[in-house]
Amino acid sequence: MPDIPFWNKCNNKCVMCTNLGEFAAQPPSRYGLKRQIEKLERYLKGFGRIYLKNADKADFISLTGGEPTLHPDFFKLLAYFRKRLPETDISLLSNGRRFADKGFTERFLKIARPPFTVAVSIHGSSASAHDRVAGIKGAFSRTVKGLENLFAGLKGGGGAGVEIRLVLHRLNIGEFKKTLAFLLERFPAPEFYRVVAIHYEIEGLAFENHKRLALKLSASAGTVNATAGLIAKFPDFRLYHFPLCLVKKELRSKCRITLPAEDRIYPPKCAGCRARKKCPGLMLEYYKTQLFHQIKPIHTVSQSNTFTTLNLLTLSSLLSACRARIILLT
Ligand code: SF4
Repeated sequence: MPDIPFWNKCNNKCVMCTNLGEFAAQPPSRYGLKRQIEKLERYLKGFGRIYLKNADKADFISLTGGEPTLHPDFFKLLAYFRKRLPETDISLLSNGRRFADKGFTERFLKIARPPFTVAVSIHGSSASAHDRVAGIKGAFSRTVKGLENLFAGLKGGGGAGVEIRLVLHRLNIGEFKKTLAFLLERFPAPEFYRVVAIHYEIEGLAFENHKRLALKLSASAGTVNATAGLIAKFPDFRLYHFPLCLVKKELRSKCRITLPAEDRIYPPKCAGCRARKKCPGLMLEYYKTQLFHQIKPIHTVSQSNTFTTLNLLTLSSLLSACRARIILLT
């Protein structure tokens, strides 16, 4: 199942947000309780493309925003989704600030029965580092308090799992190691949560702010590689959007393909790479930045096949990317 925008307003102003300003400007009634329930029911009856992103994913849904927890009928809507999708893995993407309210967290954990994950983004190891990215003073302390409440609820047998997301870009890549150390110090039982490091996506506000954010995948991966020792302390650690050839061998099993095929591309250099099947390749928007020259095939197939394979793979990647764009435009 797809990404479902639960609510279009947010109380953070993250510099790398993948939404455009137009999204938040839409009338809130488009995301109200009644409209959301109607949409879900139409989707479950198979009525066409109700949700745009990841529409082909069958086994989980992501509730996104804006900030989903700000929805005026958040609990009613959440309970409805859980009731209609009792077995589906639900992931709630949040800035974590509302969980700073203990009562809110306790109520949430009663409704969010497994399989359920709340994914909270942290942008640095200190208030100044995090708030600079989140665009709101005081955001860090609320987010950290929110995580504390979630972990306290989990110990009491609460129903959700916790994922901590680190979106990496030029403004916070220098914080990566310190942020992991901070997590271990503040939340010293990493077996209770998953950590995901994500190379930022060039979309929405992140596209508009790209001059400030621009970071080569090789630089991002270099920092991740240099932090492998610390990463090993987290039993469940994942990497999103990293081509396998840029990541240390010991970290490659942590890489996941999360974007749909139409949002990824394998440039000519990938021809003959034996890792291609399991590799996320490059994000299409990143490919357009021409910052990807460091990729290199892992154990290439025989040279005699390379010319044909190279042309076919590139052509096929470009065609599927173009086809996807055309579908979205029509
Ligand atoms: S060469 Fe291409 S397919 Fe191979 S690991 Fe690098 S990005 Fe992935």
